[in-house]
Amino acid sequence: MKIFAVLGDPISHSLSPVMQNTALNALGLDAQYLSFRVAKENLRYAVLGAQAMGFSGLNLTIPLKEIALKIVIPDDLARAIGAVNTISFGGDAKEEIKGYNTDSFGALMALERTGIKIEDSRALIVGAGGASRAIAYILSLRGAKVSIANRSQARAVELANRVGGHGFGLDDLGKLVPRADILINATSVGMKEGDPRLIDQSWLRPGQIVFDTIYNRRTELLEDAFRAKAVAIDGVTMLVYQGAKALEIWTGLKAPVDVMERAVRGALEEREKAKICLNKDQLKEQ
Ligand code: NAP
Repeated sequence: MKIFAVLGDPISHSLSPVMQNTALNALGLDAQYLSFRVAKENLRYAVLGAQAMGFSGLNLTIPLKEIALKIVIPDDLARAIGAVNTISFGGDAKEEIKGYNTDSFGALMALERTGIKIEDSRALIVGAGGASRAIAYILSLRGAKVSIANRSQARAVELANRVGGHGFGLDDLGKLVPRADILINATSVGMKEGDPRLIDQSWLRPGQIVFDTIYNRRTELLEDAFRAKAVAIDGVTMLVYQGAKALEIWTGLKAPVDVMERAVRGALEEREKAKICLNKDQLKEQ
């Protein structure tokens, strides 16, 4: 049996196991995809241990993607982005441990599915962390004019310099958002109910592409985008395509993306129902 896993800290929220196990099953492979909570300082041991135990591949999530560069041999894309989210093992403990970045492909597919022409478009990315790095790099490579706005402006400027764009603070969003053809939220703001709005609905316009990388819930930004008649894209497509690319790297087989997307959306619906049940039970107790 082939074993795959996702490592991160925290990890219990990850939808990769349900998505990848459904895909492995659909491909008829004798394989299991697991998840492990691994702290940053233990990543080296975890990766070497997985190799020693004959694992076939790993995914990495927060906060391990950047530190992994020091542990694996990254391909050119992962090195240029500065983050690894997929690891492949050759099957022999003496073989090289290779690292890839498939987040950039996932984000690109999410945007391309709308039919938008990326070349020469004005793309505004809010956030300057790992996800933003992958998206900024690939959009810039595809010829978009990239601007980055971040809470810590210095980080936005540093990333913008790497990709040939412009960096801003969040105070500039009011003038930047209306001018953007593509607006991307690559911050963690919106992951939790009650998070503040970074973007005012009045700054959005019909036809604008609004892509929120968050996939665990329907965010206020996406609700506002619907109301403004913008084209709203959630983070599920990015999640599915980054996972599909990883699966293809590991198995050499074409990933069943539709099956994967249905598995993720189904799991999200189940979570939503569980939350409603929990709320009802809490009400009964009061
Ligand atoms: P990260 O490296 O920790 O970066 C977090 C970013 O959010 C930073 O730019 C940070 O700004 C900003 N931020 C955090 N709290 C904020 C606040 N209260 N106000 C304003 N900005 C704030 O995380 P990441 O890995 O890039 O992930 C970012 C988002 O991308 C998450 O929502 C994650 O779910 C999503 N993501 C989605 C996929 C997918 O497949 N759909 C894949 C990867 C990531 P500072 O620099 O100022 O701290």
